[in-house]
Amino acid sequence: MKISVIGTGYVGLVVGTCLAESGNNVVCVDIDEEKIKMLRKGKSPIFEPGLEELLRSNIHEKRITFTTSIENAVKQNEVIFLALPTPPNEDGSADLKHVLTVAKQIGKFLNGYKVIVTKSTVPVGTADKIRMTIERETTYEFDVVSNPEFLKEGAAVSDFMKPDRVVLGLRSVRARKIMEDLYEPFVRTGNPIIVMDERSSEITKYAANSLLATKITFMNEVANLCEKVGANVDSIRRGIGSDVRIGQHFLFSGIGYGGSCFPKDITALMHTSAHAGYDFKILKAVDEVNTKQKSILVDKLLKYFRKKIKGKHIAVWGLSFKPNTDDVREAPSLVIIKQLLKRGAVIRVHDPVAMKEIRKQIGDSVKYFENNYDALKGTEALLILTEWNEFRRPDFERMKQLMKRNIIFDGRNIYDPVMVREKGFIYISIGRGEIGL
Ligand code: NAD
Repeated sequence: MKISVIGTGYVGLVVGTCLAESGNNVVCVDIDEEKIKMLRKGKSPIFEPGLEELLRSNIHEKRITFTTSIENAVKQNEVIFLALPTPPNEDGSADLKHVLTVAKQIGKFLNGYKVIVTKSTVPVGTADKIRMTIERETTYEFDVVSNPEFLKEGAAVSDFMKPDRVVLGLRSVRARKIMEDLYEPFVRTGNPIIVMDERSSEITKYAANSLLATKITFMNEVANLCEKVGANVDSIRRGIGSDVRIGQHFLFSGIGYGGSCFPKDITALMHTSAHAGYDFKILKAVDEVNTKQKSILVDKLLKYFRKKIKGKHIAVWGLSFKPNTDDVREAPSLVIIKQLLKRGAVIRVHDPVAMKEIRKQIGDSVKYFENNYDALKGTEALLILTEWNEFRRPDFERMKQLMKRNIIFDGRNIYDPVMVREKGFIYISIGRGEIGL
């Protein structure tokens, strides 16, 4: 099939590359000329495991090309994916300006039947808005399909190649046939293509993210309670996760969820609900608890040092909002670092891939180290903010020699508290029986 993907970011690039890998001819479009130049050279602008290799082989096989021209991409191809940003407006609603601007351009350049597929996470009713926007510009036939994306950064390629499910919101038999053909290679193992109306499909994505964010937040509240009563959230996680109705996933407590999706999708769904006259109470609580949770490690640190952290050197391991990605959008690390800097601490950071991205946001207000041990030199505490695998089995003796004081504040519960304390560290984590800290 001949496919265009408009918006070549975390989603668009993965979607485009994976569709090329399954034999389609794909044109990826972006307004960012630098990005397009990099991509033409086979370089991925984002860190995503396995993506660059796949990108290079598909460029080599001439199945994927990159352009800044929407006109060509619309005229040449029959299926047009929109993978554009939908950032939050000030009132929390999703900003549709990128999506609707592109819809208008598509309408102008339409030269025959096309299927326009929304991959972006968009509020209920957006398919109708896209349809109306295009209709105003053209007399050609077209269909609009809502096809929310469920990939996870850090595992995006395998998630797209082997999706748990594909959701299609549509109303046309012609579009359904095209979309089912397109996805057929990805659901050979029997995972379902679930077809529904566009409105339900649009809400499905928000409901999925909101439920996952709620699960994380629920466990964070259990952890906070554990600290008050001297219980261990790890044991509780094991105790409840083996119940199939609950499941093992998304039960790890920590310093709150971040990323480009959960925070904005929760506020967007709250906004949609309020607009529809419905008070979605759980979402409000989730958002509020999560905002507080991002500061919990700073609260512990301030309590430990009796609020005196001015001039203290503090190391941070992990900046991305989760492992295996360089994405720092809404990462807890940003909140934590800013709070510590405000109180006069000197921050020394390391992340395997996200330092370039965080530097764009906080510049040289912190010191950057390519090696995680170098970040520890002369520090009075280490904060672990992302559970990268390489932090899981460190050389504790080396750490002890480098640090001025041997204190670890672990926001991801990656160590066994007994083991770390035996190694001679003061160890403070989340919800594991440390009453008062
Ligand atoms: P992104 O910011 O990484 O990528 C968006 C791309 O669109 C950028 O490269 C930008 O330059 C480009 N762009 C903006 N305006 C354009 C225009 N007029 N024409 C062409 N290109 C344009 O965003 P993302 O993380 O890929 O997210 C895209 C959408 O997918 C959002 O709605 C998001 O909620 C949703 N989503 C994201 C994820 C994720 O994990 N990142 C997962 C599922 C769904």
